[in-house]
Amino acid sequence: MELGDAWGRVATDLRVSLTDRCNLRCSYCMPAEGLAWLPGEEVLTDDEVVRLVDIATRLLGVRAVRFTGGEPLVRRGLVPIIAATSALDQRPEIAMTTNGLGLARTAPALAAAGLDRINVSLDTIRPDTFATITRRDRIADVLEGLRAAQHAGITPIKVNAVLLRGINDDQAPELLAWAMAEGHQLRFIEQMPLDAQHAWHREAMITADETLTLLEKEHVLTPITEGRGAAPAEEFLVDGGPATVGIIASVTRPFCGACNRVRLTADGQVRNCLFARTESDLRTPLRDGATDQELAALWVQAVLPKLPGHGIDDPAFLQPARPMSAIGG
Ligand code: SAM
Ligand code: SF4
Repeated sequence: MELGDAWGRVATDLRVSLTDRCNLRCSYCMPAEGLAWLPGEEVLTDDEVVRLVDIATRLLGVRAVRFTGGEPLVRRGLVPIIAATSALDQRPEIAMTTNGLGLARTAPALAAAGLDRINVSLDTIRPDTFATITRRDRIADVLEGLRAAQHAGITPIKVNAVLLRGINDDQAPELLAWAMAEGHQLRFIEQMPLDAQHAWHREAMITADETLTLLEKEHVLTPITEGRGAAPAEEFLVDGGPATVGIIASVTRPFCGACNRVRLTADGQVRNCLFARTESDLRTPLRDGATDQELAALWVQAVLPKLPGHGIDDPAFLQPARPMSAIGG
């Protein structure tokens, strides 16, 4: 079996949200007061997560798993879940997307458990701008976490940044200079309409082209991406290399046609797209005693109707009911 859809795409990259909770409040993601978190009994247990990842990798052709959230580092069972994933019959590549808070403490255990790759989200290297965007004065913890991940050998680290008009859009070159000095691979991501507050509007978004213009004020960028395939980032050599910078134009140059992703929420719902308006429940059948084969068949059915694109530019576009933090970014 495989996770194919009617448009010929096959999902081999699974994003697993381990929690909808977070210790930051990034303005493009969550309101200051946070959200109504999922009740504990609705969240998949560690064993349930690992069972579904096993089914995805052994029966459905999934080759890469990324743990995300919410903030995956606040999930108590994170290290055991990664260790169990690493011990699966069909071991996938194991990655995590994190805000880095608490990474300093956990990085050695994550590396030992089998974490292969890490993406750390950081939109600025200025403490005051960090506090404005995330509503928490915690940049020192992120920088410490990055150093610990490097020390633990989980490298190269990808750093994800979102530029916000009037807040950090003037800081793109300095963020790149910092990333190059630290040996991190920086990628700028266009802001998407996935915030819980539904405050996104197109004019406020810093487009990929604007980001390039901002960077080209100080650097010569040479495109190196020949057919990005399923990789969303367009990569550029900075000043002839070897350093690179990536631009993820999710809104203005969507890569839906090559999408190979499928998502599992913390409460056990399959989403065939970040922007899907429907979900397929695996938790109920799983808890009712469904076999691996039955769960795999349900998963196949969940991916089949995946739409050809996210349709953000369609006048009829409706933001999904759940925000990014609950879907798993
Ligand atoms: N808490 C972790 C973190 O921040 O890396 C993992 C979850 S977070 C939802 C995953 C990624 O989504 C982060 O890189 C974050 O910057 C990004 N993100 C959140 N809301 C977004 C939005 N509205 N548009 C674009 N990216 C967004
Ligand atoms: Fe938390 Fe990540 Fe959302 Fe920021 S982007 S509020 S760190 S889940």
